[in-house]
Amino acid sequence: MRKNTSRHHGVFWPDFVARSVVDIDFYYLNRIGIKAVMIDLDGTVVVRGGYEVSKQVSKVLKDQELKVYIATNRPKSRDLKNLEAQLSASGVIHPKGLVGKPFAHYYKKSLQILRLRGDQVAMIGDRYIQDIYGANRAGLVTIHVDKLGESANIIDSFISYLESRHSKKIDRHYKPLQ
Ligand SMILES: [Mg+2]
Repeated sequence: MRKNTSRHHGVFWPDFVARSVVDIDFYYLNRIGIKAVMIDLDGTVVVRGGYEVSKQVSKVLKDQELKVYIATNRPKSRDLKNLEAQLSASGVIHPKGLVGKPFAHYYKKSLQILRLRGDQVAMIGDRYIQDIYGANRAGLVTIHVDKLGESANIIDSFISYLESRHSKKIDRHYKPLQ
C-alpha cells in the first residue's frame, strides 16, 4: 500500500493505492483512526458478477480488526450471504432506489448507518468514479486497488482503459508508508 504525497490532488485521487486487498495495511489504517472499511465487490474482491473470493483475501479480512461492510451497487434482491461470510463482513450497504455509488448521498447515508465520521471509514474499490470520487466527496478515506478479472464488455473495457491511464498519471505521487 502506498500513500498520496501530492499537494495537487483532487476528487479522483485516492488517499492510498494498493495492488489488491491483500496489499492493504489494515494495521496502519487502524493506527490512523480508521474503524471500518467499506469494500466494493465487483473487480475488487470478485470478478464481475462473481461469488468466489480468493483464500488470501478471505484470510486477510478475517485476520484484521476493522469492521468490514460490503458497498455494492448490486440490488438487494441478489443473495450475497455467501459473500458476507467469505469477507467476514458485518453487513451490506445496497443502493437505495437509484442512489448508489458514486453519489455522495450514498456514502453519507452509509456513515449514518455505521455511526462513524468520514475520517473513520475507508472505502476500498477498483473504480475511480464509483468508489473513489463519490467517497472522497463524502469525506471518506479512499483506497484504490487494481481491477480484478477481465472486462465484461466493450464499455467496461473502455472505462478500464481510461482508469488505467489515470492510475499511470498519478502513480509517481504515491510513496511507500513510513
Ligand atoms: Mg468495482
